[in-house]
Amino acid sequence: MDIKNIFKNNEEWIKGKLAIDEDYFKELSKGQTPEILYIGCSDSRVTAEELMGINPGEAFVHRNIANMVSSLDLNVQSVLNYAVTHLEVNHVVVCGHYGCGGIKAAMESKDLGILNPWLRNIRDVYRLHKNTLNAIEDEHDRYKKLVELNVQEQCINLIKTACVQQASKSRDIKVHGWVFDMETGKLIDLEINFQEILKGIMEIYHLE
Ligand SMILES: [Zn+2]
Repeated sequence: MDIKNIFKNNEEWIKGKLAIDEDYFKELSKGQTPEILYIGCSDSRVTAEELMGINPGEAFVHRNIANMVSSLDLNVQSVLNYAVTHLEVNHVVVCGHYGCGGIKAAMESKDLGILNPWLRNIRDVYRLHKNTLNAIEDEHDRYKKLVELNVQEQCINLIKTACVQQASKSRDIKVHGWVFDMETGKLIDLEINFQEILKGIMEIYHLE
């Protein structure tokens, strides 16, 4: 890839947008009212808008290695707070993907330096679901299951936050756990029962 092409591509993209709507950028610059907060992996193959078939302005996006929602990560917590409290999104999505390098790395016994504390959060998911995961003999299937369980745990981490708890009282905010299968291109809804989880964990994580 020639980096200069990016600017040529940008020119083409502008032309394409203006050909359809000459006020496209004027409208885009007026402000944003996204309906979705999308938290996904930084993996270059798992784009946010493209796989959802949505346009600029429709999703507030945060991406990091293995789509983690850590309570100590000021970045994801700021994005979450801004999206839920100020932009008032009604859907918060955690989207993982099969073939995730972060999840794979967490399953291996390797010292990865600065990545160790980050991947430890995934190892914690493994520890929480050790019995389920160890019962899966096929390594590939176990890896896929960890991808799914990690999404589920990150959804729970969202529900632990004050901003999601507050929003769920005043409006119909929903947390969704999805997995992208890059071998088929399919987006899979894990159908996590938000209300059920909320009931189950509120005894411990209730904040107000
Ligand atoms: Zn990934």
